[in-house]
Amino acid sequence: MDEHVTANDLETLDRAHVFHPSTHLAQFARGEAPSRIVTGGKGCTIVDRDGRKSLDAFAGLYCVNVGYGRQEIADAIYAQAKELAYFHAYAGHSNEQVIRLSSRIVDKVGLGMQRIYWGLSGSDANETNIKLVWYYNNVMGRPEKKKIISRQRGYHGSGIMTGSLTGLALFHNAFDLPRSPILHTSCPHYWRYGREGESEADFSKRMAAELEELILAEGPETVAAFIGEPVMGTGGIIPPPEGYWQEIQAVLNKYDILLIADEVVTGFGRTGEYFGSHTYGIEPDLITIAKGVTSAYLPLSGVIVGEKVWQGLEKGTDDLGVIGHGWTYSAHPTCAAAANANLDIIDREDLTANARETGGYLLKSLQEAVGDHRLVGEVRGVGLMAAVEFVGDKDTKAAPDPSLKVGMKMSAALLEEGVIARAMPHSECLGFSPPLVITRDEVDQVVSATKRVIERISESL
Ligand code: PLP
Repeated sequence: MDEHVTANDLETLDRAHVFHPSTHLAQFARGEAPSRIVTGGKGCTIVDRDGRKSLDAFAGLYCVNVGYGRQEIADAIYAQAKELAYFHAYAGHSNEQVIRLSSRIVDKVGLGMQRIYWGLSGSDANETNIKLVWYYNNVMGRPEKKKIISRQRGYHGSGIMTGSLTGLALFHNAFDLPRSPILHTSCPHYWRYGREGESEADFSKRMAAELEELILAEGPETVAAFIGEPVMGTGGIIPPPEGYWQEIQAVLNKYDILLIADEVVTGFGRTGEYFGSHTYGIEPDLITIAKGVTSAYLPLSGVIVGEKVWQGLEKGTDDLGVIGHGWTYSAHPTCAAAANANLDIIDREDLTANARETGGYLLKSLQEAVGDHRLVGEVRGVGLMAAVEFVGDKDTKAAPDPSLKVGMKMSAALLEEGVIARAMPHSECLGFSPPLVITRDEVDQVVSATKRVIERISESL
């Protein structure tokens, strides 16, 4: 950093030269949207250059599972970077860190998983998934079986094909997305879409029936895969309704359709089991991982490939030669070192159990503190994922007037109280997904700030 650049210049330079993701670019450039330059973090708390601290109840973007400031991960990164910062993994080259990492994850996940293809982001891993599914069906002699079904409000990234998988209009608008051959089926949010008198289990059956209708309308011989997050994340933190995954899997099995579990958020303890697939009895063919695998200390993602698809990939290379898929940074040793150190912490401190126990406490506390408020329609969650959904009318469940921007106002007011929660981009709801190290005391701070803010904002609406 140029020593002549002062702290105030930093904001000006940021507004002038940094292209921020998911940001109102014009407002930010004009200085109308807030800027925050973050300088440090410890545990669940981050600090900015003005010395302002915030309890981060969203773990960055639900990724800093072990919390901020872990010396042990920094040391592992340093040691590996000194010894061998990088070498590629093409043509059988490898490194000890990635070998250890792959085998420990495959062991821990079970479910017939075999090998991991390594990438750097959740988006690129899902891009790999799509290619593998297409390749698999080509080598299995059914080139017409290519369509991939995701869900309205699902989130799978913001690349061209992964942005197409994402079922949120915000990520499509003016980008000419979604692209073929991606289709979307219903969002399984029982509280919002369940019908009068319909039980949760019946709602799940209807979700599966709607999926089957779509498959039959398209022709089962054209549908290759279904992708879903075990718990919907960006679409509003929505745990699946009772029996949902069993019903969906029965339909997929009937038509020989592969299942991709996108565990980018739910992997590595967040739902209170090691993987969301364990929590919900999901038996995927492919699993996407990212975020919690390194707690975001360095970028790393992966596609865990199950036996069935693997057999097809081996057959493919016997037929066609070397697989035409590879990235410079695949199996990056320094990122893998960060991941190994991170997973050591998750295991040693049993953070999965903390997600289960303290997560249960978070959900119960939120329900008790704000569940009856006239603006709150639903408080939901599992493990350390929770959401408070706002309504304009509690009886009809009507959403609040969008011009009131209730979710945004709540998260801005919470920030003033020193707590970060996310106004989720689809519905008027506040999302919570804190580091898995959060304590009950910290949960109490989050919940009491949330209660104060809801009371205060509701008076001003
Ligand atoms: N899949 C899921 C379930 C996600 O939540 C995300 C990001 O939030 C992604 C994929 C995309 O990951 P990335 O932002 O690392 O590309």
